Amino acid sequence: MTEQPLPLLEPEVWRTCSEAKREKNKYIVPKGYRENRHLYSGYQCHICLKRMTDEATEKGWWVHMTVSSQLVPVNTEIAEELSQGWFPIGNACAKKLRLEYRSQLL
Ligand SMILES: [Zn+2]
Repeated sequence: MTEQPLPLLEPEVWRTCSEAKREKNKYIVPKGYRENRHLYSGYQCHICLKRMTDEATEKGWWVHMTVSSQLVPVNTEIAEELSQGWFPIGNACAKKLRLEYRSQLL
């Protein structure tokens, strides 16, 4: 039996964080940020825009996006010109996404 390929997820589906919340998160300074500036090189969760440490980013989850902001299932190949690349997401947001749509770096 062959399985149906998973669909690309539209932004309305995967963007589980409201635009207002995203705007706010962009400017939230994480606890201990000033003392630990060296731990941050500018990564943000692609879904909620919260700042992430480099370590959390490296060990965390990543998603593959199309140029139309659709989310690509991990095992799905798309044409190179349609790919926007891979983006990190935080743990809280990762939990809301099916495992088939997120990947950890090896
Ligand atoms: Zn997030």
